[in-house]
Amino acid sequence: MGIFNNLFKKKEITPKIECPRCLGKGHVNEADIIRLDKELYWAPGDCAYCKKTGEVDASLVSKIAVDEMYLTIERTDRERKKIINKDKQAIAKAAEYKELIDSFVDHIVLSYTEKKASIDDIAETLLVKGPKGIDKGELVRYIKKIIEVKQL
Ligand SMILES: [Zn+2]
Repeated sequence: MGIFNNLFKKKEITPKIECPRCLGKGHVNEADIIRLDKELYWAPGDCAYCKKTGEVDASLVSKIAVDEMYLTIERTDRERKKIINKDKQAIAKAAEYKELIDSFVDHIVLSYTEKKASIDDIAETLLVKGPKGIDKGELVRYIKKIIEVKQL
């Protein structure tokens, strides 16, 4: 074993803890999403906090919030590292993404409450304006979820 092996050998002393996002399951379910108050932001799926392993380095919790909305399984490893390291660009991207979803939700809330549009009408309008390939059933479920979460 040469000097470089010793230099670059990582010491496995970081204690692991059960992943606080998925509670050790490796995937985030509806109950986790409700517990973390992310109903309008996340769908059930693989856990991005522990990368599906169910456990994380204990130090991770102090680096990034368990409920960091932007840290989802869609992010690449590179992006994930950037988010954890509080890279300015990544933080700006995360804020932009949240704003986008929030304004989308606001738009739906407004259409439903002020304009008295039906769920179906809102979905139809969004399907016309939005990007192609959106599933109407999924959109309707999302609108219903907004109405439920916001107690409209
Ligand atoms: Zn997890």
